Amino acid sequence: MTPRSQVAEGRVSALTAAAKGPIALTEEVIGEMVHRAAGADYRPWWRAVTGTGFCSNPIHLHRRHGLIGDDRLMLRCGNRRASVCPPCSRLYGGDTWQLVHAGILGGHYGVPTTVAEHPMAFVTLTAPSYGRVHAAGPNAGQPVDADRYDYAGHVLFTWWAPELWRRYTIRARRLLTRLLRDRGHDPKRVRLTFLKVTENQARLIPHFHAVLRLDHAEPVEVGDGRASEPSVIAPPVGTDVTSADLAALALQAAAETSVLVPDPTTATGTRRMSFGAQADAEPLDPSLPVAVRKKIAGYLAKYVTKSVTDHGLTARRVSPQVAHDRQVLAGLSPHARAIITTLTALADAAPEHYSAMVRWLHTLGYRGHVTTKSRRYSLTMGALRAARALWRQQHPTGSEEPSAPAMSGDRADDATSTDTAEWTYVRSGHDTRGDYLLTAAAATAHLEQLWARRDAREAERMGIP
Ligand SMILES: [Zn+2]
Repeated sequence: MTPRSQVAEGRVSALTAAAKGPIALTEEVIGEMVHRAAGADYRPWWRAVTGTGFCSNPIHLHRRHGLIGDDRLMLRCGNRRASVCPPCSRLYGGDTWQLVHAGILGGHYGVPTTVAEHPMAFVTLTAPSYGRVHAAGPNAGQPVDADRYDYAGHVLFTWWAPELWRRYTIRARRLLTRLLRDRGHDPKRVRLTFLKVTENQARLIPHFHAVLRLDHAEPVEVGDGRASEPSVIAPPVGTDVTSADLAALALQAAAETSVLVPDPTTATGTRRMSFGAQADAEPLDPSLPVAVRKKIAGYLAKYVTKSVTDHGLTARRVSPQVAHDRQVLAGLSPHARAIITTLTALADAAPEHYSAMVRWLHTLGYRGHVTTKSRRYSLTMGALRAARALWRQQHPTGSEEPSAPAMSGDRADDATSTDTAEWTYVRSGHDTRGDYLLTAAAATAHLEQLWARRDAREAERMGIP
């Protein structure tokens, strides 16, 4: 067994590994790996590691039952950021792809294929320009002239972006109601649903990509005079609103959405925030080839794992002290540093409005979720996890899931669905650097296997022996 003291001090997670740089294969680390592989507890440990999908930063839970019962459980961290946990972020990206895919094309998870016939638009909402930035090269996204870059505007846009999106959805729904009334249709029979994904741009400001879709708003008849469950997604009836109409409406809503916010850097003490002029809306016509729709689904999912914090700050939460921590700041680009400085300055200048900014330094001031959707857009992540858990129950051999994302095993979902209350959190990360490396190597090997299998299937389809 590994000595206790070493377990306490040598705990390795993706976070500490990232902070300390790659783990060197020293004699000590090799010793840890050999110790693990030769140890009596290797098998249960390996089963647990496999069960987490080779998570880089597993969470350890513990529960007692009866007098001597003592269960331990290792869960995947579930972090969607590739910089924190590559295996978990792949799973999250895969889940999102399925969510988007089901919402655009249907055909699985209870979403009918007729969903592809609904009027739909793919919308991109950008932030305004706060100063010229380098378009390409090693300085891509960095201001050309940092002294003249409007950092207060940049930070305030990021801070208020979730509110701007909320107002945008309200505006779009109002415009739709007006359009339907103008055409003599009943607005209550049509529902506008959204799926939004946040992209962190190179200039470190959020962009929104969204699919807007029209659904029938009431329960529909499903035969025998029975009404469907309200959750059934059905094409809107009694309306001639097209995908092109929806795209036009989406752009108009973007232009008409704004929010007046406190800004201690202006003479009036306020500033009106709105989206940038580069808004774009593409009608997703039902006649579009399936391949194009699939591409859009993949495009949206890609942004989910593209880390909002791919700027050097990897911790989930960064304490306010980070703004004064030279070592942390030295690892960031001058642009990211200036944003953090601006966040703390605004918090100081207007604490009555912005004191909370110091708690969001790790996301450079972005408070929103990476993915949001209206309730009825498609299946929920929860439903997806439940489906995965059920599939595993029925296929206990540990074989690969049919259509599921890259990883197998997801004990976290099982635990949360059955008996979370009894479990207590013990710690997260791997016990030793050796364990961490063994797991990381297994994750890579597993991925290569998946790719090889995919290639083989592809070759088979194309008739290549
Ligand atoms: Zn993980």
